[in-house]
Amino acid sequence: MIYNEDFETLPREVMETLQLKRLKQVVQRVYHTVGFYRRSFDNAGVQPDDITSLDDLKKFPFTTKQDLRDNYPFGLFAVPMSSVVRLHASSGTTGRATVVGYTRRDIDTWSELMARCLVAAGVTKNDILHNAYGYGLFTGGLGVHYGAETLGASVIPISGGNTKRQIMILQDFGPTAICCTPSYALNLAEQGRAMGVDMKALKLRVGIFGAEPWSEKMRAEIEDALGLAALNIYGLSEIMGPGVAMECIEDRQGMHIFEDHFLVEVIDPATGEVLPPGEPGELVFTTLTKEAFPLIRYRTRDISRLLPEPCRCGRTHIRMDRITGRSDDMLIIRGVNVFPSQIEAVLMGVEGLGPHYQIIVDREENLDTLEVQVEVSEKLFASGDEVKVLQGTERRIVKDIKDYLGISAKVKLVEPKSLQRFEGKASRVQDRRRI
Ligand code: ADP
Ligand code: ZN
Repeated sequence: MIYNEDFETLPREVMETLQLKRLKQVVQRVYHTVGFYRRSFDNAGVQPDDITSLDDLKKFPFTTKQDLRDNYPFGLFAVPMSSVVRLHASSGTTGRATVVGYTRRDIDTWSELMARCLVAAGVTKNDILHNAYGYGLFTGGLGVHYGAETLGASVIPISGGNTKRQIMILQDFGPTAICCTPSYALNLAEQGRAMGVDMKALKLRVGIFGAEPWSEKMRAEIEDALGLAALNIYGLSEIMGPGVAMECIEDRQGMHIFEDHFLVEVIDPATGEVLPPGEPGELVFTTLTKEAFPLIRYRTRDISRLLPEPCRCGRTHIRMDRITGRSDDMLIIRGVNVFPSQIEAVLMGVEGLGPHYQIIVDREENLDTLEVQVEVSEKLFASGDEVKVLQGTERRIVKDIKDYLGISAKVKLVEPKSLQRFEGKASRVQDRRRI
């Protein structure tokens, strides 16, 4: 089934005509409403009128996460605040978070695209949907929620956490569809089994999982543990939130990108050059219809490749492969985006620590764990009344990481000079997760 037959099955030529028309409009609009774009286009020597074909887009400069941070919080908005009806932010409560805004029409578009995703997964208005994505500033919860209501499904806005209660609701309310991160799906399965619940006997028929990397192996594990079809969904708050691309239940090989709203390019992350379809590289998106927060050539840092082969489901939208990595050092820990530099900034704000630290990420019982090992300074170490002071320092770091980054960490203070030293580029992160 297809939610918006007209737009999801457009012949390539008609699609490109529509994209070009929308691209011209958005490039004009940002040039005249957002100071950042005017400066960036002027510096690159390009003008909105230079767009005469889709190919001309590659003459335009990229937009990066750093540009978003530099314009924190609202500097890239293309409409006055009176037209903005919703704000979201990606993780990090420091000034480095990425803040995005939506007009009424943006919310309607997002809701429709999320409804398209649900229908691509075979969900109908007769389904009950257990939505365990986090509600709040994170786009996952509310994004899925509005899409499900638009479709007319019955949403359970359970949000994240409180797993025992989730399992009770899965048994009692009998949802037929579930949305959450793939690691949380496995965690639910495990905790359910530990409670003596036959998780395969639940009514769940389909699961829509995303917001973090996963693998075909995890897909098989989830399907086996919960007795459902597990589908992949991709999105990022900068471009919209969940619902930028979605796998169809008919084919389940790659996610259809909603090309009537997003123009996708794949570039070589080192040179910025556009790569031909099929080559792996960094995904770059241009939003074609967004009003409050349009983005031109946004570098996602996500590595994937386009799959131009036609799909048997009838959708003509091009597909993207699973995300295979990132071209920066961002970690996704329990669904929260974390940059090692943010942890370093927290450590730098605490007295008595040396400059050497190590970040260890692992997965235990399908939950991500974060451990930070940090050397104390010679001075603190020599000061004698260690134990109390050290414990206090540990607690302070744990609290600051929780307060600033929104995640729980285990902190271990270690003796000066005990952590490994590096020749050349330090590698301070050990990601031991096997997904
Ligand atoms: P969201 O609310 O969509 O998770 P964030 O902005 O917090 O948005 O995080 C977006 C990032 O999450 C993406 O850039 C990508 O790295 C990761 N991500 C989202 N969906 C997937 C997916 N299906 N597979 C792998 N990574 C994903
Ligand atoms: Zn398809």
